[in-house]
Amino acid sequence: MSTCALSLESVGYKYSGGHAAVSDLSLNLGPGILGLLGPNGAGKSTLMRVLATLAKPSSGKVSWNGVDIAANPDALRVSLGYLPQDFGVYTALTAREFLAFLAAVKGLSGRAAQVRVDHCLNIVGLNEAADQRLGGYSGGMRQRVGIAQALLNDPTVLIVDEPTVGLDPEERMRFRHLLTDLAGHRLVILSTHIVSDVEASATELAIMARGRLRFHGTPEALLAQADGHVWEWTVSAEQLADVRAK
Ligand code: ADP
Repeated sequence: MSTCALSLESVGYKYSGGHAAVSDLSLNLGPGILGLLGPNGAGKSTLMRVLATLAKPSSGKVSWNGVDIAANPDALRVSLGYLPQDFGVYTALTAREFLAFLAAVKGLSGRAAQVRVDHCLNIVGLNEAADQRLGGYSGGMRQRVGIAQALLNDPTVLIVDEPTVGLDPEERMRFRHLLTDLAGHRLVILSTHIVSDVEASATELAIMARGRLRFHGTPEALLAQADGHVWEWTVSAEQLADVRAK
């Protein structure tokens, strides 16, 4: 089995002319599901783009199994699947055609590509709809095609950026289950600003705010930190305005 160690040392990222979108961020990651949480603008997408080798850190270092990915991005790319936030599909193609096209882009062709496409369609539960045009797919089905394309190279690291935006509750649940099934020996990094996306599935949480890491640990450790700082209070509808005002 391939090793799976992604290490970030004081990673920073600045857009040209802008302020730091990510600052001094250190994390050591291994197999499991990391829920990356934070409000909009926290720097999650920027960090994901750095980890997906699409942006080079302005400072610090990211290593994959000990290899610096800025100097040697291919070391990680061969083991990487990425579902970006703005994933688009060709609506005139069927799921099977679209995946065959992307497999070709990734250097897979012929019988091996067909077998792999079938396998990925199977993993995401789209075999029966595989020959329908993507234009007729629901949002949840399109996101599953997005996961299928990210799985074409059987990645050890799977990065998914805000994958549940726009999905209805049932699709959202189905999608979470899919990510849990995929974890196993993989590292799955799931960014979201919706806590319920990660509370049931994440083995670890990383919380970002204003480009900085504010917490890294298990969901239980986070809850333990909140103990004594969060209250629940039941009030009647008549009392609510009064309570809010205070
Ligand atoms: P998140 O994914 O948590 O919503 P982002 O990584 O998208 O956060 O954004 C982090 C910060 O970087 C924000 O202040 C945002 O305005 C800024 N930012 C994002 N993309 C760009 C860009 N292309 N150019 C300049 N600033 C950007």
